[in-house]
Amino acid sequence: MMDINKIRSDFPILSRKVYGKPLVYLDNAATTQKPICVVNKIEEMYYTLNANIHRGVHYLSQQATDAHEAARATIQKFIGAKSSNEIVFTRGTTESINLIASTYCRAFCQPHDEIIVSAMEHHSNIVPWQLQEEISGVKLRVIPINDKGELIIEEFNKLINPRTKLVSITHISNALGTVNDIEEIIRIAHHNNVPVLIDAAQSVQHVPLDVQKLDCDFLVFSAHKVYGPTGMGILYGKEEWLNKLPPYHGGGEMIANVSFEKTTFNELPYKFEAGTPDFVGSTAMAAGLDYISEIGLENIVEYEHELLEYATEQLLKIDGLKIYGTAANKSSVVSFLVKGIHHYDMGMLLDRMGIAVRTGHHCTQPLMDLMQVEGTVRASLAFYNTKEEIDQLVAGINKVVSMF
Ligand code: PMP
Repeated sequence: MMDINKIRSDFPILSRKVYGKPLVYLDNAATTQKPICVVNKIEEMYYTLNANIHRGVHYLSQQATDAHEAARATIQKFIGAKSSNEIVFTRGTTESINLIASTYCRAFCQPHDEIIVSAMEHHSNIVPWQLQEEISGVKLRVIPINDKGELIIEEFNKLINPRTKLVSITHISNALGTVNDIEEIIRIAHHNNVPVLIDAAQSVQHVPLDVQKLDCDFLVFSAHKVYGPTGMGILYGKEEWLNKLPPYHGGGEMIANVSFEKTTFNELPYKFEAGTPDFVGSTAMAAGLDYISEIGLENIVEYEHELLEYATEQLLKIDGLKIYGTAANKSSVVSFLVKGIHHYDMGMLLDRMGIAVRTGHHCTQPLMDLMQVEGTVRASLAFYNTKEEIDQLVAGINKVVSMF
């Protein structure tokens, strides 16, 4: 259904060599590669539309403003938000979560109130809340997982209580590939009048999302993992919530009126966008989203699932290889270890063969502790990967095994 050769030709980096060998890029959960249209958009913005936005009356400034706001509308449409006022540009998932942790706790939390996260969270959905433990006195509660790496929903039901102020949870685990049943989490949380933040850093590029259908209160993701530029991210928040939150950063753009006596703040979404906006990043991000919309996320889901099944099947044929994360519902991430071989050695030796995988704790140290490993080797697949590349990975691992 998808023309993989054509798709691969849209990503020039995929045809480069490393150490004289064709690159096999299997580190897509860390960051995805960029199609030509995204890089072209960056060039076009700087060469033809560069001007500071929102403030100027001149032609260029207005054109750049229009392009930035059109990008916001593209993102709104991509995730099914009701209004473009609900789309706040940030520097990435990490900044988006920090924004909510800081402003939400400031507005709504008292000492001993509780925030629920899960055992499989990325550090960026743990540490901002821990900072708030110090600042606001909130307490972090953790939903446990089973041996397959799936959330134990009954335990979530037990954890939620009148002190619970927010549930902040990942949709898809970057370390295990588990796809969490966020519909059920949101249903339970809302039944208890608790809002939910979804960390969609690993899902927005793999699963079609509709924030209105999901009914999540906040949803965050990074452009660089959705084939877009680095340094750009999104905070989606229901308008009623964003209106109730205080500003995060202060400065230009986010104000209505400033005097030394009293400053009033801008309306949404600008209240949360202090300083010169990254209009190059936003427009390049929108170009990336348009690109995947054209291919069709449904096609991407189907193809990536096929790749995941093939990779799982082939990897399990390797003697002594154990996969970490065997949830019934998984996205295209395979974390593994081979008995007797340190993850770092495996990663380094694969690298020499041109195969890029990630090794280590994947910014999920509490999860690694739980699984009693220091780290894993992670191959994470995107729709431009092929079964041949998986064969190369398997051959590479077998070669490393034979060396040891
Ligand atoms: N959450 C998850 C699930 C992630 O995978 C990542 C990135 N690995 C992040 C948050 C943080 O994203 P960023 O570094 O782009 O802010």
